[in-house]
Amino acid sequence: MEQARNEVLDWLRDAHAMEQQAEQMLSATAERVEHYPELQARLRSHLEETRGQARRLRAYLEAHGGDTSLVKDVTGRVAAFAQGVGTMAAGDEVVKIALASYHFEQLEIASYRILLAAAELLQDEDLRAVSAGNLAEEEAMAAWLLEQLPSITRQYLQRSETGGLPAKR
Ligand code: MG
Ligand code: FE
Repeated sequence: MEQARNEVLDWLRDAHAMEQQAEQMLSATAERVEHYPELQARLRSHLEETRGQARRLRAYLEAHGGDTSLVKDVTGRVAAFAQGVGTMAAGDEVVKIALASYHFEQLEIASYRILLAAAELLQDEDLRAVSAGNLAEEEAMAAWLLEQLPSITRQYLQRSETGGLPAKR
């Protein structure tokens, strides 16, 4: 399974790059939702989880992957997505932040489901633990966001009605 193992190490480096991007997005978006304290608190707590996820991936790569200088920079695809979040218009940004955050969690969930399947095939218990641990946190975040979307939407629309928002361009 040598070739398969090398493939999986490459996916882990991708996952690490994804988590670095998640960290940047979460710290930027948490600062922009000050009128939505529950969302802000959840983004901040997921930011802490995200740092832990990146640490788990690095620890695995250090123990099993050899050269950690091979840890990739953020891939173009993920970087472009995050840049889109960063350049959102001010007016409706909380709804777009919630939408983009949910989208990003789905990418993370799919990534860890892939790594979990690989861990099971390779009978790699360390990889299984890292993948399952990170997956559970992403699923919890996605479920929270999905549940909160109606309330975030209502709060946003009510704020826009009562003039609490900057005029839309
Ligand atoms: Mg993550
Ligand atoms: Fe996440």
